[in-house]
Amino acid sequence: MARIVMKFGGTSVADIDRIRNVAKHVKREIDGGNQVAVVLSAMSGTTNQLIEWTREASPMHDAREYDAIVASGEQITIGLLSVILQSMGINARSWLGWQIPIKTSNIHGAARIEDIDGTEIIKRMQNESQVAVIAGFQGLASDGRITTLGRGGSDTTAVAIAAAIKADICDIYTDVNGVYTTDPRIVPNAKKLNRISYEEMLEMASLGAKVLLTRSVELAMIHKVRLAVRSSFEDPETARPTRDSDFTNLTTGISNHPGTLVCDEDEIMEQELVSGITYSKDEAKVTLVNISDKPGISARIFTPLSEANINVDMIVQNVSEDGKYTNMTFTVPEGDLDKALKVIEDNADNIGYEKILSATSIVKISVIGVGMRSHAGVAAKMFETLAKKGINIIAITTSEIKVSVLIDAEYIELAVRALHTAYDLDVN
Ligand code: ADP
Ligand code: ASP
Ligand code: MG
Repeated sequence: MARIVMKFGGTSVADIDRIRNVAKHVKREIDGGNQVAVVLSAMSGTTNQLIEWTREASPMHDAREYDAIVASGEQITIGLLSVILQSMGINARSWLGWQIPIKTSNIHGAARIEDIDGTEIIKRMQNESQVAVIAGFQGLASDGRITTLGRGGSDTTAVAIAAAIKADICDIYTDVNGVYTTDPRIVPNAKKLNRISYEEMLEMASLGAKVLLTRSVELAMIHKVRLAVRSSFEDPETARPTRDSDFTNLTTGISNHPGTLVCDEDEIMEQELVSGITYSKDEAKVTLVNISDKPGISARIFTPLSEANINVDMIVQNVSEDGKYTNMTFTVPEGDLDKALKVIEDNADNIGYEKILSATSIVKISVIGVGMRSHAGVAAKMFETLAKKGINIIAITTSEIKVSVLIDAEYIELAVRALHTAYDLDVN
C-alpha cells in the first residue's frame, strides 16, 4: 500500500470526458489498495479566459479580486471530479484552498505556500478511505482572502500537499508521458528519461521546460518528496496500480515507474554528460549604447534595477575601442521589459548613455547536465554546433551544471535540434 498524490493539469481535465478518464486513473489506484489525494488544475484555457475577463473589466484591478476571479476555475474541476467519483461508488470530497486550509503569504497573484495542516485529510483517508480532491493554484492569506500561486501553480500545490500528508510519491499527470531530453513538441525524437536528479530538473524547469514548475521541484527537493511525471493519456484501465517498488530501492535496479522519476543524483546509475536542452522565449534584451567605460558604471545601471525587483540574467559589456565609451547589453524577463526601460530612463542622468535599444525577438537556449562538473568541453561543443549552423551568440552564461546562450528567436528550432543531435540525445 502506498499513499499517493495524483495531480492532473489543464489538458487532463479539459472536458467531462477527460475528467471521467481522470476518475478511472483514481479508481485504479484505490482498487489497488492505495490512499489517494488528487490535486487538479482548471480546464485548459479557463484560467486564461478568467484573466482576460478581469483585464477587460478593469485594466488596473485590485489584486485580491483578481485572485477571487482566477481561482474559480479549479473550483469547477474539483466539484466535477468528486461527483463523478461518487457516482462510481468512491468516497470523494472536494477541498478549496481555504477549507484545508493551505496558508500562504499575502502576495496576491504570486503567493507562497507557508503551511498546510494535513491531519484531517489523513484521518479521512485512513478511517473512511475518502479521496481528497483538492483545488490546485490557490490558498488563503492571513488577511482572510483567497490567493493564487502564479501560473502553473497547481504543480506546487501537489508537492506541498504530498509533503503535508507524508505521501510516498507525488505523480504529476500531464499530456506527455515523462520528462524528455528536450520539449518533444520541438524535437519529435527526443528521449524520455527514466530518472532525472532534482538539481537537473530544477535547472531544466527554471530554464524553460514547463513540464514541471520550478517552485514545485524546489519544494520537492527541500521536503524530500518523491516526484514523478507521467501521462494521463495512457489507458487508465490497462495501467497497473502504483506499488512501493516503483519508487523505493532505486539503487538496486531500474525503476518501475511508467514515467520519469525525479530523484537524488546518486540514485541515477548511468549519468549522461548532458541530460537536457531547454529554450525560453520569455526573455528581453536591453542595450545601452555609448556608456562611459569607467569604474562604477555597472553599479549605476544594475543597482536601480535590482531595487525595482527586476531580475537581470545575462550581461555582456563590449570591449571599449577608445577606452572611453562602450556598450552594455543585458537580459530581463519579457514581462519586466517596460519596467526596466523606465528604471533606466529615470536614472539616465546618473548612468549617462547615448541611446537605449531593446528587443524581444530573442531566445535563451540552455544545455543542462550534472556530468559537466567532471567533464570539460560541453560549452565548446555548444558553441561549435551553433557556429556550424551559422547562428550568432549574443550572450553567454554558465553555472556548474548548465551553459546558456542567447540567440535570435528565428533559430530556436534549428538550434535545439542541432544541439540535441550533437550531444547524442536523439532516439535512433
Ligand atoms: P499541464 O497542463 O498538465 O500542467 P504543461 O503544458 O504545463 O501541462 O506541461 C506539459 C508540456 O510541457 C508538454 O506538453 C511539453 O510540450 C512541455 N515540455 C517542455 N519541455 C519538456 C520536456 N523536457 N519534457 C517533457 N515535456 C516538456
Ligand atoms: N490553472 C492555473 C493556470 O492555468 C494553475 C495550473 O494549471 O497549474 O495557471
Ligand atoms: Mg503545468
